[in-house]
Amino acid sequence: MKDVFRKIEREYELQRDKNKRDLEDRKREIYAEIPQIKKIDECISSLGFQSLRSQVKSPSLDELRKINEDIYALRGEKERLLLENDYSRDYLDDSYSCYDCKDTGFLEDGSRCHCMQAKIARELYYISNMSYTLDKENFNTFDLGIFSREPYKNEGISPRENMEMVLKLSRRFINTFKDKNDMNLLFYGPTGQGKTFMLNCIAKELIDENVAVVYQTAFNMLDLIEDRKFRRNEINSVKYNLLFDCELLIIDDLGIEFTNSFTASEIFNIVNTRILRGSKTLISTNLSPDELTAKYTDRVFSRVFQKFEPIKFFGEDLRLKINS
Ligand SMILES: [Zn+2]
Repeated sequence: MKDVFRKIEREYELQRDKNKRDLEDRKREIYAEIPQIKKIDECISSLGFQSLRSQVKSPSLDELRKINEDIYALRGEKERLLLENDYSRDYLDDSYSCYDCKDTGFLEDGSRCHCMQAKIARELYYISNMSYTLDKENFNTFDLGIFSREPYKNEGISPRENMEMVLKLSRRFINTFKDKNDMNLLFYGPTGQGKTFMLNCIAKELIDENVAVVYQTAFNMLDLIEDRKFRRNEINSVKYNLLFDCELLIIDDLGIEFTNSFTASEIFNIVNTRILRGSKTLISTNLSPDELTAKYTDRVFSRVFQKFEPIKFFGEDLRLKINS
């Protein structure tokens, strides 16, 4: 576990170094192109120095106010020059890959930033090993063409129309991910309908946006919960806590095999806690909502499912279709 944290700390260090170098590059570029800005920067830093000295020697409010006004005016002038030359006004400001923690990994209150959680999740859940799958299964490779245009059995619409709707909802889920809107999705339907593919599409999109995503099959999640009972080491604990703390938890393939087991109720407690905190969860299952309610009669279960928008997948088995 120490190695994981050391590796992550090093990544932040490298990122901060890179930010500094990039800023120096931008400065050099601007100083060459707009020499007045170099002058202005020199003035600002000498005024800053003056203000510091006066604060130490003889604090005079009037003098300080005067210096601050001058600095403010110079900054305005600098912004004006940048804009006039088709640069953004913040072109010479510090830049970060995460503005929430300024690439330190920690927020002001000392807690871990979501970008740090994302890195830990990536390391511990081997999400980087998933990158092969995510490269193959994402919105760019998603092909609506494989879904039949024929209305399917009693559904009233074709699998293709249905998938267009699923696609729209999944997009909306991603676009409103940071909003507090209680949007959790439950993908259900028989195997071979593209549920896991769609989960991968969503995961990929959000991982690329530095969201802390934990992706697990229900089976592996149970394994982790069981394992933690017998071997309480640091990795197990951090992994377990991430199930609660990650920004998006994806539980793939929730099945009947878990009914009545103590560990199954732990899964639901995790999801329930997340719902209470306003964190989002995606679930896929081969069970229908009726089967789910029949199998999971517990109060917690039904409360949890109420907070999910059920989305049905149906049609011919796509695995047979692709292979034929
Ligand atoms: Zn951050």
